[in-house]
Amino acid sequence: MSKIDCRCCGRKLVYKSTSDLPFFPFCSERCKLIDLGKWVEEEHRIEEPLTPDRVDETDEPKGESET
Ligand SMILES: [Zn+2]
Repeated sequence: MSKIDCRCCGRKLVYKSTSDLPFFPFCSERCKLIDLGKWVEEEHRIEEPLTPDRVDETDEPKGESET
């Protein structure tokens, strides 16, 4: 048996293997999402993510061919 503290709320978790914790290293999906949300927010501040919409926009070639 191993023990960890939930990375988000600090709750003590006991497990035999990490497969016992579907949300390892978090105690629950909620904590996982909270932590992930924090991380994603940080990323957003640094740079704008590529959205599928944007990829669609730039689908056409640039037309910079030299002949
Ligand atoms: Zn937690």
